[in-house]
Parts: sequence; structure tokens; C-alpha cells
Amino acid sequence: MRRDVIAVDPATGDGRPSDRLTATVRSLYIHIPYCERKCEYCDFVSVAGANGQHEYVGALLDELRAVGSALDGCMLDTLFCGGGTPGLLDLRLMASVMNEVRGGFRLAPGAEVTLEVNPSSASAQRAEAWLAAGFNRVSVGVQSTHADILGFLGRVHTSGRALAALAEVRAAGFTNVSADLIYAVPGLDDGRWLQSLEQVIDAGPDHVSCYELTVETGTPLHRAVAEGRVRVVDGEAALRQHRLAVDTLAGAGYEQYEVSNFARAGRVCRHNLVYWRNGHYASTGVGAHGHLPVAAAAAFGMTPPATALAFRYQHGRDIAAYIADRCGSPLSVRNVEWIDAEMRTEETIMLGLRLREGVHLESSAALREARELVAAGLLELEGSRARATARGEDVLNQLALRLAAPGA
Ligand code: SF4
Repeated sequence: MRRDVIAVDPATGDGRPSDRLTATVRSLYIHIPYCERKCEYCDFVSVAGANGQHEYVGALLDELRAVGSALDGCMLDTLFCGGGTPGLLDLRLMASVMNEVRGGFRLAPGAEVTLEVNPSSASAQRAEAWLAAGFNRVSVGVQSTHADILGFLGRVHTSGRALAALAEVRAAGFTNVSADLIYAVPGLDDGRWLQSLEQVIDAGPDHVSCYELTVETGTPLHRAVAEGRVRVVDGEAALRQHRLAVDTLAGAGYEQYEVSNFARAGRVCRHNLVYWRNGHYASTGVGAHGHLPVAAAAAFGMTPPATALAFRYQHGRDIAAYIADRCGSPLSVRNVEWIDAEMRTEETIMLGLRLREGVHLESSAALREARELVAAGLLELEGSRARATARGEDVLNQLALRLAAPGA
């Protein structure tokens, strides 16, 4: 183990592994960048085909070992393996990834361990293997139950396969299943959006995420829009479909706990809550973003500025470069952003306003601003905790900007 890179707690400075550090990092993200084909709208770090997966996993194991050592084998409450399509990974390689996690970290009793899968690479047999590898939550990329919409998005599965995948993971023994859906897709009217929602609800997932289709620069969809071949859905229609999802899912017993996320009782995604609460998490794999306390900087070979409280890091998007980097220095990172107190406050407000639980406002200036927004019907205030109303949710970014920089 690389004991030489263990962080020194600035509070004690005595060289012992930092209790404060290991206590605040309780989550880990692992990125697997392979997909069957590249979807039309996709801006994630992913490639079509699984060529090179053995080399990639070799580098990933090195990184997992190094990060586990640097964070002194911290206890994980949540682990999220996303992509890409991690469910596509060779099952033996996936088992080796999970073995490395168990070797380098400690999984807390009851830890939430999520695997992202796509319907086309799911089967009863694979679902059993994922469970045996140690996953206890599966997130299935259903996206739509309409063939033309799936085709437009560039997805390779059919509607029947999507619903079958939800049944297969359940039958294999997963008791925590999530389904992703996309709305505001050209050609998807409200009636058919409602139909997709109802079909997915009938399949009985514990958690549903509904995301608005966004046009990301550099994607085939972006080119199609720029060339006038595709007309995007206007904001009003997108908002209407969002509201339809909120009402339909509420009627079926799913609580909206974040703008785009809905869960049955006790089934919120604990890993994503860490992101929205602006918590710390380690990350491994190409393109992955991590957010760690400043006490971890030394372990990554970095000297922080005096004002830094934390840092965000990212490995870059190139798979070959990621593999090459791990050979020389498994902890090397390509992009680092230092977070000071002001940035942390801004980020906490931006992220926390997405949650139904809201966000705690610390400054009296932010509270003054919040009272004006309450008067405008955009915010609710309970003590120092602010949460967006349904009207406020429609203008979330503006609300966050006003609360983060009151009086600006
Ligand atoms: S399955 Fe997901 S990660 Fe893979 S190409 Fe499609 S949208 Fe991107």
C-alpha cells in the first residue's frame, strides 16, 4: 500500500491518517466508458464497442487501489458504477472491479451499491451475476417505450426489451430498481409521454428519473438541430411534460425528492443525494469527477492554496491517456479546481435548491433575498431552510443565482 501518500490532517499534522478526511468521504463513483453504440444525444465519456476493456480495467484496478490507500480505506456508504454502460462489461472484469473495491475500501453495512445498465445488455443470467458481484441497486436506461422515440435517440433496445429488463433484474433478486426516462423529445406528444410513464410505473420500479432531452454541443443531435433537420421541443412544452411526470408519479406513490428524481418510500438514490448536498466523493475511471476535502490534496501530489476547503478533479476524456497515466502514477489527475468558502456556498445553494428538502442559507443577506422570493411565490422558507415552489422550480437557475450572490 502507498502509505507514503496518506494525507496529513492539517489539524493535527502528526502524520496519522486523517480521521476527518476518512469521515467525510463516504462515496465512490466508478466510470466504465463502453456502450453498444453511441446515442445521438450523448455527451458522456463513452465509446461504441468494448475493445480494450481488459487494459482499461487493469488501469482502473490500479487507480482503485491507489485511491483506497490514499483515503486510508475509507468506509463507503454509497458506490455508483456508471458510464457508459457498465452492465456491458465482461462479467469477470466486473467481479474483479468489485473485489478491488472490497480490498481497498470498506463497504458500510447497508451500503447502496448501484450499477447502471441498458436493457439491451441485460438478461436474467447477467442480473444474477451483478447481484453476486455485490451490487444491490440497478438503474435501467429505459428512456422511452416508443420505438420511433428510441430510434430517434439512437438507442439499440426495443420497448419490450426495456420492460423485460426491469422484470429480469427484479426476478434475479434486486429489491432496489430504478428506471430512467427522457421527455421533451421531438415527436413525443403529451399522450405518448404519459403512456411511457404509465408503462414504466406498471413495471414497478422503486425509483424513476425523468430527464429533459438536452442538445449538447458536438453530438449528432446538435448537428441535426444546427442544420435544421430537427426542431427542438420548446420550453413551454418541456415544462408541461415535466409537470405531467410530477403529477403522474405522485399519483402512483413516487415522491419527487429532486427536480428530476422520484422514489418510493426509503428508495431515494443515496449516492446522488451526496452530489446534491454538495458532499465529498472519490471517483475513479476516465472522465470521472471527484470532490474531496483539501486534506486529501497531498495524497494526490498537490499543494492547495491557503483558502481552499476542497477540490474537484477530473481525469480527462481520453481512454488511452487515462490508461497511460495510471502506468506512471495511478493518482494523477488532469484537471483540478480549488474550492474556497465563497464557491462552496454558491455550489451548495445551486445544488441544494434542486432538492425538495431545500437548502440551509447561512448569510443574513441570502435570507433577506429569500424573503423577497417568498413574497414572489417562488420560494418557501422554513427557518433558514429554503426550497423552491413549483413555480420557482421553473426558474431554478435564476433563484440560485440570486441566493448565491444576494444584492448583486
Ligand atoms: S447508452 Fe448512455 S452513455 Fe452510452 S452512448 Fe447512450 S447515452 Fe451515452
